[in-house]
Amino acid sequence: MQAPLTFAVDNRLPDILERVTQLLPRLRPQTATNPLDQLLYGVIAQGLSSAGATACYRRVKERFPSFSALRDAEPGLIEGLMVGAPSAALKAQAIPEILRLIDEAFGSLSLEPLSRLDQELALRFLTRLPRVTEEIAASVLRFTGTDRLVLHIDKDVARPLRRLGLAEQGAPLSALPRQLIERSPVAWRSEDFAGLSRGLTRVADRFCHQGRPDCASCPLANLCPAAEKAEAKVVTFPFGKARKTAA
Ligand code: SF4
Repeated sequence: MQAPLTFAVDNRLPDILERVTQLLPRLRPQTATNPLDQLLYGVIAQGLSSAGATACYRRVKERFPSFSALRDAEPGLIEGLMVGAPSAALKAQAIPEILRLIDEAFGSLSLEPLSRLDQELALRFLTRLPRVTEEIAASVLRFTGTDRLVLHIDKDVARPLRRLGLAEQGAPLSALPRQLIERSPVAWRSEDFAGLSRGLTRVADRFCHQGRPDCASCPLANLCPAAEKAEAKVVTFPFGKARKTAA
């Protein structure tokens, strides 16, 4: 029998995230976007400016405030609210159909179940819905947490990541997102990974330099195995080589 595939979660990660978040400027709180709103907005927005799309979607939502009302709406009524939108008739037909298909697949008018699928399956489901392009689907996944597998790690973020032992030494850059995800708490969403990535960029910039890191000032020092080594080097250095004395 094949052994179950399990990963060891690194218990330092929540603490690391909290500390690196302190290094970031405070962001204005954003209203959480319902992924289903994002999906329908994406369909309506095709071929429109963002101002035009927002106005159009607002009219639709005012007339049909609930997803169930929109699912049961006559396409002709929806079309009448999309004045000036390209392919308005096709979009107006697609919207109730999309909602019906989601209801049928998940038993509710919600895209929350997508967060339990892997990214590829979730993308496949979304792009099979009428008028949903890959671009719209990818934008929806940002709001479901399903996009966490597309975490981007550049060489600056990789430096503290490796020194912290959150990735194997010598692993190529392309392998690091997967290694980090495998060690992360299962409850982490895309915004946690984004926060960690932005925070580690700060750490790399301020403390974890390419040459000698400034571990004494780094907020992650007591969580970082490389910090001990760096300190040990400083203590033993004067005894490592005989210093030349002036003749
Ligand atoms: S403690 Fe030192 S080695 Fe570890 S992340 Fe901070 S600066 Fe880098």
